[in-house]
Amino acid sequence: MKTKILSGKEVSASVYSDIKSRIDTLRSREITPNLSVLLVGNNPASEVYVNSKSKRFSKLGLLSETIKLPEDISQDHLISKIEELNEDNKIHGILVQLPLPKHIDTDSIIKAIKPQKDVDGFHPYNLGTLLMGKPQFIPCTPKGIMRIFEYYQIDLSGMHVVVVGRSNIVGRPISILTSLKNKFSNATTTLCHSGSENMIQYLQDADIIILALGSPEFLKENHIKKGAIIIDVGINRINDQSNGNKKLVGDADQESLVGKAGAISPVPGGVGPMTIAMLVENTIEAAEKSVDFSL
Ligand code: NDP
Repeated sequence: MKTKILSGKEVSASVYSDIKSRIDTLRSREITPNLSVLLVGNNPASEVYVNSKSKRFSKLGLLSETIKLPEDISQDHLISKIEELNEDNKIHGILVQLPLPKHIDTDSIIKAIKPQKDVDGFHPYNLGTLLMGKPQFIPCTPKGIMRIFEYYQIDLSGMHVVVVGRSNIVGRPISILTSLKNKFSNATTTLCHSGSENMIQYLQDADIIILALGSPEFLKENHIKKGAIIIDVGINRINDQSNGNKKLVGDADQESLVGKAGAISPVPGGVGPMTIAMLVENTIEAAEKSVDFSL
């Protein structure tokens, strides 16, 4: 069986081309979408993510500022920084790069962000509206996955979707999005996690598998049925046996799945580019809404 590659690079390119006119409309009103990223400490992976986000913003002529804060910043100080940005009318989106140092309560930090500027979609208000089927800001990675389905005309209606991983940033929101009574959704969704028994049975029954567990090359050819569609969210750095360097792999053993899966999103080049594209889109949406709010 020929396995189709679900290219996030291709889908994100179409997103960037579609949003050009929205950026131009905002510019004609002298508004440039502006994102503030708070980066606490010196986590190298976080720095890489933040750099690629800010590169994309500048490529599109959008504004983004990274505010670097020391590892030992107090929770109160971080919250007061967020409150400052909440009140700054020139800032449309606020993103706090996760993970945060252990002495900081992540939930309290996310709650401090104004929901209208929460372009990551992690605030309880935004997660609540998602749960009700009337989302405002949808978390970027799950939103990007849904966009991949739409682009490739994969209608989930009536299908069995199995999600592995229940984090608030990927697994849980995608389990909700896939099961909403919406176009391209309307699936029967099973959410698996480390407490799931007989997970292989669910996987073998799945029409679509969404992997967000962070376990390198976890999904093998014998775990899936022929033709299943695999969305691989995982980003894992492992040793490359051939040259001793590090390499990026997903949660799927991609090589073993090609030929049996109907379609698969690669790592890198699959979900990753979509996460950034949806952050751009959410920031543009925040800027658009800010105009409506102030009129
Ligand atoms: P978390 O560590 O927050 O959550 C992992 C989830 O997977 C948990 O719910 C955990 O269960 C479950 N899990 C872990 N191991 C197993 C297992 N063997 N069997 C079943 N369930 C398991 O991770 P994130 O959601 O933040 O990220 C997941 C992966 O996606 C990571 O590799 C991350 O780097 C990547 N990622 C990629 C993004 C992109 O843009 N491509 C964006 C965000 C994340 P339990 O709840 O019981 O602990």
